[in-house]
Parts: sequence; C-alpha cells; structure tokens
Amino acid sequence: MQYRMSELFLRTLRENPADAEVASHSLLIRAGYLRRAASGGYTWLPLGLMVLQKVTEIVREEMNKAGFQEVHFPALLPREPYEATNRWTEYGPALFRLQDRRGADYLLAPTHEEMFTLLVKDLYSSYKDLPLSLYQIQTKYRDEARPRAGLLRGREFIMKDSYSFDLDDEGLVVSYQKHRDAYQKVFERLVIDYVIVSAQSGAMGGSASEEFLAPADAGEDTYVETEGGAANVEAIQIKPAQSISITDLPAAQVHDTPDTATIEALVNFCNQNESLKRSNQWTAADTLKNVLMRLVSQDGTTSVLAIGIPGDREVDMRRLEAAVYPEIVTPFTDEDFAKYPTLVKGYIGPDALGIKSKSKIEYLVDPRVVSGTSWITGANRTGKHVFGLVMGRDFNPDGQIDVADVRIGDECVVPAGKVIRLARGIEVGHIFQLGRKYAQALDLKVLNENGEQVVVTMGSYGIGVTRAVAVIAEQHHDERGLRWPRTVTPADVHLVIAGKDEALAIAANQLADQLNAQRLSVLIDDRVGVSVGVKFNDAELIGIPTVVVIGKKYAEGLVEVRDRFTGAVDDVLLSELVAKVKQLH
Ligand code: ATP
Ligand code: MG
Repeated sequence: MQYRMSELFLRTLRENPADAEVASHSLLIRAGYLRRAASGGYTWLPLGLMVLQKVTEIVREEMNKAGFQEVHFPALLPREPYEATNRWTEYGPALFRLQDRRGADYLLAPTHEEMFTLLVKDLYSSYKDLPLSLYQIQTKYRDEARPRAGLLRGREFIMKDSYSFDLDDEGLVVSYQKHRDAYQKVFERLVIDYVIVSAQSGAMGGSASEEFLAPADAGEDTYVETEGGAANVEAIQIKPAQSISITDLPAAQVHDTPDTATIEALVNFCNQNESLKRSNQWTAADTLKNVLMRLVSQDGTTSVLAIGIPGDREVDMRRLEAAVYPEIVTPFTDEDFAKYPTLVKGYIGPDALGIKSKSKIEYLVDPRVVSGTSWITGANRTGKHVFGLVMGRDFNPDGQIDVADVRIGDECVVPAGKVIRLARGIEVGHIFQLGRKYAQALDLKVLNENGEQVVVTMGSYGIGVTRAVAVIAEQHHDERGLRWPRTVTPADVHLVIAGKDEALAIAANQLADQLNAQRLSVLIDDRVGVSVGVKFNDAELIGIPTVVVIGKKYAEGLVEVRDRFTGAVDDVLLSELVAKVKQLH
C-alpha cells in the first residue's frame, strides 16, 4: 500500500489537547490517529485504524494459533441472561441499561460470560465436545465512573474476550495455561512490556486470576513485587502480626489531649506533654485510627463500617473497594456524622462503635492490630484519648480487614515475602478461572463418561484491544512523538520528499513501488508548499519507525534512513535501500 500525505485525511496539531492527561492520549490526537466523539468514545482516523487493525490481527492470529475459535455476539442484549446471574443488578451503575419500543429491558454488554455460556449450552451436551475455547473481538460498553486518558478508559471500547469450557478442574487449568501462553505471545508481538500479577477476581466471582499489567506511570493499577512474586495491590495479603500475651500489660487510662483531632497533632502532643512523654518518642504507629465508611449494598441498604488501622497508615480506597465488593463504599461525610451523635469526629475509639454495648457498627481492624497490641486511641469525647487500650482485653473487633496502604518492606503472605517494589501499571489483559458460577446459574451441563450430568467449569480471558493501542503509544514515544513498533506501525516506511525538484518526486514514487513489491507499505510525504522542517516534525510525531528522506544527497545516489526506534541515521545507496529497510524489519 501507498498513502500520500497530500491526500491522507489527517491534520497534525502542534498543541496538546486540553483534556489530555497522559502522553498516549495527547500524541494520538496530535498525530492524527484519533478524535474525541463523546465522553469515553473516540473516532478512529485512517492512521489510527491501520494501527488498530494490526493490533487486532495479532491478537486474532495468536488466538487462532492456540486453537480458539472466533464467534461474534451482538452488543445489544436482553436482560434475562444477566438477570439469571444477578449481574443485571450486581454490575451497578457501570451497566448501560435501555429499553426497546415495547418496554423490554436491554443492556449494552460490558462483557459476555452469560451469552457464551448459553451458546455452548444451546449446542453442546457431551464431555466429548470439551474442552472448548471460543472468543470474539467486539465492542464493549461500560458507563465508567471516570472515563479518562483517551483510549485507556473508554465507555465504548474493543475487547477480545475468550471463554473456556471444561469438564473438570484439571481441564480448566490446562485451558487457563493455554490462554496465558497465548497472551504472552500477543504482548511480545505488540512489543508491550508487561508483568503478570495475581489479581482478585472481584466482579467475576472466580478464583485463580492474573492480570497482565503494562508498567506505566499513567496506570491506574498498583502492583507489588515481593521476593516471592507479584500481585495487584488489591489482591495482596499482609502477614498478620504475632499476637502478644495480654497479662501484665498496664491498665488503659484516659488522658486529656486537647486539640488533637488529627494523628499528627496527637503524636506531637504526646511527645511534648510532661506526663505523657516517654524515653523513646511516640509515633503515629502507636496510635489506632478508626476510620468510618459508608457501605451501600446491592439492594440499596446502607450500613456503617469502622476500620481500625495504625495511625501511620491510610486506608487505600482501591483495596477497600475490592475488599467490600459488590458493596459500594464511600468515606463518611459530615452529614453522616450528624446522624451518629455518639461518634465524636477525631476522637473515635472502639467503645463508641458499640464493641462493648453491641450497639453495632461493624468494626474491622488491620492485620497489624492483633491480640495483646496496645494503642493510643480516641476516648469518644472531644479532647480525650485513651492510652494503653489493649486488643483482646479492652476491645474485640468483629474481624480483620486488610486495606491499609502498602509500603516497601511490608511482609506479605500473598505474594510471599517482603515488598521490594511498588509500581503503577495499566491492565491490558486479564485471565480468570471462573469455575462453575456461570454454568451453574445458567445450567450448562454435559454428560460425563458415566452418563451423569455435570456442571461445566469455565474460564474467562480478556484483552483490551483499544487500550493496547494506547499502551503501546504510552510505552513507545519520546518528546517529539510516537515511535511505533514495526509490528503495529500504520505504514512500514515514511518517505519524505525533502525538496522541490521534480526528480525527487519521481524517484520517491519509484522507491515506493520497490518497497511495495517487498510487501512494505509506504506513507509518502509528497506535500507541496510544506517546508522540510514541518515534514520532519510530522514524521517524528506520526512515529512510523523507518523514515526515508530523499533530498539533497539524491544527486550522489544517496538517501537518508532514520530509525525512529533507535535514533540511528544512515546514508544509504539508493540501490541498497530496499535491502536496508527489509533488514530493519
Ligand atoms: P479495569 O480494572 O481497568 O476497569 P476490568 O478489570 O474491569 O478493568 P476486565 O473486565 O478484566 O476489565 O476486562 C478485560 C480487559 O478489557 C481489561 O484487562 C482491559 O484491558 C480492558 N478494559 C476494561 N475496561 C476498559 C475500558 N473502560 N476501556 C478500555 N479498555 C478496558
Ligand atoms: Mg480486569
């Protein structure tokens, strides 16, 4: 293929779009790959579509090679299957729900477990039909709370979703591994740098699950590496502290601590007050902070959750959201406090939560708060704290909740060992062992070898195809523009005609034909009346990895080859150009 800049539907922009928070978003818009059409919805321009199609094709090829078969569902689906699995409700506000002219409920599918399950149930009935893996590459809809960063979090986006069907758990493990292997091949071909981390299956309600995260500061996920592995911060498990004997611990005492509604003020006060001072300084870690949250369950009932964590930690909202899912959690507001006059903001202690009276606010504590640990905490009166309040003696919470922020050095059970690294990443893929949840709910059974009906076990596997385009752009760019890996570049060669001489244009066309003959596609910058400087800037912005400049040195039989990926610049004999370009590819 040959494309001409003089004809291509494209306008490059000098300025970053005002709403672009991340490099991939701003570069894809500036280089003329995308236009925003709606909140979380983007129009693909010709260059963008070429990249999207290449990415899609790589995904498709690897799925096919692994023996998975492609099908295609509608995105507009009836309510009933999603009602059967409770996801019509459980999916919450992220589900686009609508009605047809007869008033029947429909949805725009956010993911397709139900439909695949029903399709297999429709056609298959014997163990002999299994294992089976099906996939589609299709548009999904999610009314995301915060559509952001262009393609990274859209409300309409393309996902490759696969589903595996097996007779038993061993089969599922094999299918899962096949998908895992195929995903690794996909991301290698897309030149996406990634880590595989254990994940919580959350919304999907399954067990084993891993995410493919592309390390990037623009990522919304945080993952943790320990000596023993890597996990999404939502899925890690902190090692609980060792409980301590409670005998011989001094009795708890209430002290006046005026104006100490924050942990910082409290610690300062304790270290300055003569009667509270001790030889080693008090620190925030000596205090027990009780944080209140409002929970809304799926049927709309609200409740209050109190979380006790050491005062030097914060509640990590992402971890908390994952821990209480499908309940929705929000921090307590002043309005909430007004409804609970016994809760004195800034001075809340276990007592006020009804630990003794059982008036019942659910009280869960961090795994570092264990029997025998002794704390400074609120005394439920303004300007008063209690010192030496011992868990297991003076208060007993309802259970543990592991939602504090994670730090280097923290000891984990999952993944095992000390945290050695915390980093941000973008989830490009996700693989789950779903188990029998969907098959059970929709009654997908097959006859086993003994003629008994057994429930099929399933896996579900997603790749964010449009998100992957943004991830590639995020990982491969510099201050001047994009730098596409050769596997996904919109064209193989960007041929810049650098001069007005008619001979250059003729030679450029000949070169393009020669490159085409080797199945290398070419974007020719044949614009007249555009300066060489502007052409070079555009070439760098557009980011085709091989730029060939035909200009001044043409008279000596030379063209310049610039490798956008490595930065190398070479003068090459015209007669050797095709070989040189092929060697780069
Ligand atoms: P996230 O945690 O980022 O919201 P998810 O866990 O809800 O994603 P899955 O249901 O696992 O996503 O979907 C499979 C894949 O689809 C994800 O790994 C991601 O690459 C992609 N994806 C999910 N939501 C979006 C979105 N709003 N925009 C673009 N791609 C998305
Ligand atoms: Mg996911």
